[in-house]
Amino acid sequence: MNEKETFRMKTKPPLVPLGTLIRRELRHGNVEKPTVNHGQAALAKKGEDYFLIKPDCQRIPGNPSTSFSVFAIFDGHNGISAAIFAKENLLNNILSAIPQGCGREEWLQALPRALVAGFVKTDIEFQQKGETSGTTVTFVVIDGWTITVASVGDSRCILDTQAGVVSLLTVDHRLEENVEERERVTASGGEVGRLNIFGGDGVKKSIFKFYVCRKEGCKSYVLAAVGPLRCWPGGLCLSRSIGDTDVGEFIVPIPHVKQVKLSNSGGRLIIASDGIWDALSSDVAAQSCRGLPAELAAKLVVKEALRSRGLKDDTTCLVVDIIPLGYPVLPPTPRKKQNLLTSLILGKKFQNSINKAPNKLSAVGVVEELFEEGSAMLAERLGKDLALNSNSGMFRCAVCQADHDDVSGTPSSHSQPWEGPMLCSKCRRKKDAMEGKRST
Ligand SMILES: [Zn+2]
Repeated sequence: MNEKETFRMKTKPPLVPLGTLIRRELRHGNVEKPTVNHGQAALAKKGEDYFLIKPDCQRIPGNPSTSFSVFAIFDGHNGISAAIFAKENLLNNILSAIPQGCGREEWLQALPRALVAGFVKTDIEFQQKGETSGTTVTFVVIDGWTITVASVGDSRCILDTQAGVVSLLTVDHRLEENVEERERVTASGGEVGRLNIFGGDGVKKSIFKFYVCRKEGCKSYVLAAVGPLRCWPGGLCLSRSIGDTDVGEFIVPIPHVKQVKLSNSGGRLIIASDGIWDALSSDVAAQSCRGLPAELAAKLVVKEALRSRGLKDDTTCLVVDIIPLGYPVLPPTPRKKQNLLTSLILGKKFQNSINKAPNKLSAVGVVEELFEEGSAMLAERLGKDLALNSNSGMFRCAVCQADHDDVSGTPSSHSQPWEGPMLCSKCRRKKDAMEGKRST
């Protein structure tokens, strides 16, 4: 009997029938906060994966009813210092960008913008250390039934809903797979290409292959560059990260952000580094651990990845279950009611959507999309509001949160007119550099 079967034998039936939950939800909306359970498993090859688990954060310190949870994965490259720095500083940098004293709905609406500011601030601070490593970040905030995910790089977060539908909450920032990012990097002054021996760069020498020409009758050899697309200078195959000071400012720390609201049948998140996703598809990862508690599920996903591909890379997996109150684990999906349980991702614009979330649309398995934005332009991510610090009477930089009395900032000579909120001169220089308008 394997682990899965043993667990199922031991599992007691849920305390509240799922049908009761659905009726309760239709009647009252998502009133009761779910239980959040998590599990973690990892196998190290290079020792560059780090993770953060903070199940007990509070919006208002000392008030347990304002609790939220944070889960994150940092997959470092070219050293571990960027991954460690992000693990230690990112959460505080994000929280400091959320206006003080706002209520829950306002806080959730401010979160996507604060995530952008926090990622950029952390990158600027790390650059000042003069170290060259970099890291992916996938950062997940869970508040009640609302999940907000911000990511740079290729550590994915997937959502497995109770309707058995698996969706990706992140975007892969891999040059090989992301044509928009290739165009952005090129437009900002980077070069995108595969490794080859003609580059003259020491790094480019080694990976190279000859192929027999495929044209009929032709016996000649064709020289081909191999490996994934990378950006030059630097040779990084990611287009976004925190750190990578030596690569070029076109590798930006601006995260893709997605915010969704689950129905009160709950769901499961699997957050993992590319050691998992290079071995398993989202569907296979989700299916391999369905019905098991989070701790066991994380172990099984890592085991499954290892079985399929061997240990080729650091492999880290967090499983987070958002479970209706009264259930020990995620309730099983009743098969006979499939038509009722059809999962929908309801595309919805950001503005006021949290306040106006229509309860009548809630049903088991339905995921409501509240916000999604992936632009690498700060002007499109920070909004236009000037933040006035009521204590000092000064304006606050939308990225680093430092107070200034100079509302316009100090524009560099090459920059375009800036339509966004106040940025201090340091953060404005960073913005221009990321857009290829100047080098730092
Ligand atoms: Zn600033």
